[in-house]
Amino acid sequence: MSSDQIKKTLILKGVGVSPGIAIGRCYRFNPLDSQISFYKLKDESLIPKEVSRFRKALKESEHQLLEIQKNLKKAKIAEPIYVIDVHILILKDRIFTNRTIRYIRKLGVNAEWALRMTLDHYKKIFAGVEDDYISSRISDVQYVVQRILRNLSGEKREIVWETGSNGVIIVAHDISPADTAQMKLDKIMGFATDSGGRTSHTAIVARSLELPAVVGLDNITGFVADGDELIVDGTAGMVVVNPYTDMLKRYEEKKRHHDAAQDHYLQYGVLPATTLDKFRVNIGCNIEFVEEIPSAITHGAENIGLYRTEFLYIYRDTLPTEDDHLNNYRQVVEDKNLSWATIRTFDLGGDKFPNYQKQAKEANPQMGLRAIRFCLKEVDIFKTQLRAIWRASAYGKIKILFPMISSVDEIREAKALLQETRQELEDEGVDIAATIETGVMIEVPAAVIIADKLAREVDFFSIGTNDLIQYSLAIDRANERLSYMYEPLHPAVLRLIKQVVEAAQKAKIHTSMCGEMAGDPLCTLILLGMELDELSMNHLAIPRIKKIIRESTLKEAKVMLKKALSFNTAKEVRSYVQDYMIKRFPDEFAEED
Ligand code: PEP
Ligand code: MG
Repeated sequence: MSSDQIKKTLILKGVGVSPGIAIGRCYRFNPLDSQISFYKLKDESLIPKEVSRFRKALKESEHQLLEIQKNLKKAKIAEPIYVIDVHILILKDRIFTNRTIRYIRKLGVNAEWALRMTLDHYKKIFAGVEDDYISSRISDVQYVVQRILRNLSGEKREIVWETGSNGVIIVAHDISPADTAQMKLDKIMGFATDSGGRTSHTAIVARSLELPAVVGLDNITGFVADGDELIVDGTAGMVVVNPYTDMLKRYEEKKRHHDAAQDHYLQYGVLPATTLDKFRVNIGCNIEFVEEIPSAITHGAENIGLYRTEFLYIYRDTLPTEDDHLNNYRQVVEDKNLSWATIRTFDLGGDKFPNYQKQAKEANPQMGLRAIRFCLKEVDIFKTQLRAIWRASAYGKIKILFPMISSVDEIREAKALLQETRQELEDEGVDIAATIETGVMIEVPAAVIIADKLAREVDFFSIGTNDLIQYSLAIDRANERLSYMYEPLHPAVLRLIKQVVEAAQKAKIHTSMCGEMAGDPLCTLILLGMELDELSMNHLAIPRIKKIIRESTLKEAKVMLKKALSFNTAKEVRSYVQDYMIKRFPDEFAEED
């Protein structure tokens, strides 16, 4: 019996944030692993030298980060380069550096010790913040501290892999873009981290590198050792530590199947999503960063159906200027491969707060001052974005989408501000498009109920099922304990969607769907039967959805939808849809269902 077989097999459940299966040896990544010493300075005369050693390490760290940024830009690696900007800002933050220097001076400790004390101080502050998103930003401070510590220790060695020719699975507490920039990416098969969620650094990086990743595993770093065999199933959100032989074989087979399927599906990306009876669906891509555009195009996106612009606000310490917005939006609209870009005005609040914003605590932030409600209160911030969207409209086709609309008043107010900014720019003689199509996100049940009235105000609807399901079924979309109830195929959800499409058709406006449901292949025929004009999704989902649409007819989709709507319970609908799809597309569904 080999030593591998003696090791206990462990299955850990986390959040799958980048699909696919990776199999490889564990490499525990912890930048703090380098030898760090903590000691008291022998006498006061050594203090100035210690302070300048600290300052030198700061400079070196800044220089390295700038270099990494430069290389990322050169290599066109689709990672959010501006996360590194945040790290540089922390490095340069006076309060952060002065506190460390004060510890060196007052306590006579070495710079490493002082730095660890500063980090502990920040940890305490961040831990006291109730908002999960903000408290998780301590990871940015940690990255910076780790880098300075590495420079203080004189360790110039970048991350090297001593794993022979095989790839590794990186296991870490969290991973920053700067960390990955130094890794030999061709040696990395996947990521597994203790912390993180859908928008964590690891998730963003993994998706842009198309590497399977599972985050939010709590304490995988405590369970694994270097060299352990690992399976990362980014689709199922699972990590297997030291799989037994049969299990490993099964996963190798699964991985072969998955990889071949990915290559196979990619060919459908370039084809239009037209059914056999010639019903055409526009296929858009949801993005959070402009760096995702190349992947969107290679996977077959025809337009950007949802650009979540709040991330422009989140990864920085000051408000973005009108020019910051403009420069960013130009990169989206100027791409000639895309027919249009749907820019959603920022959806801040809820679980997404910018760093600089001291937000009043809300007991129910998901139902609080978020999205359009926040914009209509903070008119100056909103107008800056609207002006930039108008200015970007001179460079390519833009549609504008307002989130969380729940009344006609709100959309009228938003449109009035849009007109006001247009007038301002015209008076200033700035070049802008003649018109911009406006749309509302239908993600609050009230918006569905008054869809006929909203339809008279706008050019299109975009159904945000992520929130619509949350609000209609009263299920917190982030609450894992309720995830079994979060059901897109719930009869109530299907009726709501149908009602929206019918109201839009009556008013002769388009309906898109940009919630996750749009990219779920199991729901494709149901949505086709509803006659949605556009489906917008994660880039990886596009080829498969196009394939299913191309192999279907609108006629059969309508029959299937009618039958699905006749059931009383979500369970019955799901079981009917699953059976139908497995029989109809055995190659697509046999593996997972
Ligand atoms: C939605 O609610 O479905 C949606 C697309 O918006 P977000 O996920 O950004 O809330
Ligand atoms: Mg939403």
